[in-house]
Amino acid sequence: MPLPFLDLKAATAELRAELDAAHRRVADSGWFLLGRELEAFEAEYAASVGTTHCIGVANGLEALQLVLLARGIGAGDEVIVPANGYIATWLAVTHVGATPIPCEPDARTYNLDPARLAALLTPRTKAILPIHLYGQTADMTAINAFAAAHGLFVLEDAAQSHGARTHGRASGALGHAAGISFYPTKNLGALADAGAITTDDATLAARLRSLRNYGSRERYHHDEAGLNSRLDEFSAAFLRVKLPHLAAWNARRAALAQRYLTQLRGVGDLVLPFVPAWTEPVWHLFVVRTAHREALRAYLAERGIATQIHYPIPPHRSGAYRSLGYKVGAFPLAEQLAAEVLSLPISPHHTAEQIDSVGAAVRSFFDS
Ligand SMILES: *Cc1c(COP(=O)(O)O)cnc(C)c1O
Repeated sequence: MPLPFLDLKAATAELRAELDAAHRRVADSGWFLLGRELEAFEAEYAASVGTTHCIGVANGLEALQLVLLARGIGAGDEVIVPANGYIATWLAVTHVGATPIPCEPDARTYNLDPARLAALLTPRTKAILPIHLYGQTADMTAINAFAAAHGLFVLEDAAQSHGARTHGRASGALGHAAGISFYPTKNLGALADAGAITTDDATLAARLRSLRNYGSRERYHHDEAGLNSRLDEFSAAFLRVKLPHLAAWNARRAALAQRYLTQLRGVGDLVLPFVPAWTEPVWHLFVVRTAHREALRAYLAERGIATQIHYPIPPHRSGAYRSLGYKVGAFPLAEQLAAEVLSLPISPHHTAEQIDSVGAAVRSFFDS
């Protein structure tokens, strides 16, 4: 039996009746955008995060981009971003015309290293955009302290961290605003592209509601040049079905992660995820590191075990950012991670037996 990296059909099967009912409800309503489902989902999601506002948008990339736009961040401004991670975070910055300033990660958590922020600060720095990578919150205490000292805006990229907490607060409520993705593979995933922004800032929230809808607060009155970036009623209704299951699904992920951590300790040169005491990750991914990544990946593939790499090319080395002129070695830690990380299968719908068989296969690779 092949062991999939992720099985999205299992989540749908678990909630079949409710999802079918939601689909019918929206189809029969004849109202497909900016309606009751979105309004209800925004209230429910804001409550789950602990912010006063949630603004549904079309996807995670535009969630981040719209916040930068709403803050007036653009040409000539600099935004500090992780040197490692997903390219969407950088794209949000460059799509508004600002410059991404890469920050190397902490060597153990792979999240943005706050100790490096001071060296990156210039008179043009406007914001810090940390990712809660792989489902574990960045060191927001240190990042927020630095931002407060220098008057910077903090935008969380919370695309991978639905439900993750630090010091009792949820990701999405740890900065001035957060961009969230409900891409189907995320811990809370829609059945299409979808995203949201959370914030406690009422002025920002009002501006974002306008900007996501052509810059319009009143129909056919366009006060500013906005985007078309709306979370549709079907997606909102499906997300409302899934949201009440998020905590249990995250707990399931945590139990499976614990199995990996127990079974893979001290195996070969394998570096396991490091979880500081102050953070409660939601295990969007279970990422190990080894100098033998390609051989291990091939060995597991031969045994029907699917793995992935998040991410094989750091943004500064991708074709999209060739014009920035960064050479090999510009961000050695980010580049080393890109060469060594491997994501093992994990999801709420993997069984303990499946996880154990992955663990056994990894151990046998290093024994042989
Ligand atoms: C998925 C993801 C995004 C982008 O989300 P989309 O909904 O696909 O646009 C942004 N940042 C990170 C870290 C992500 O994992």
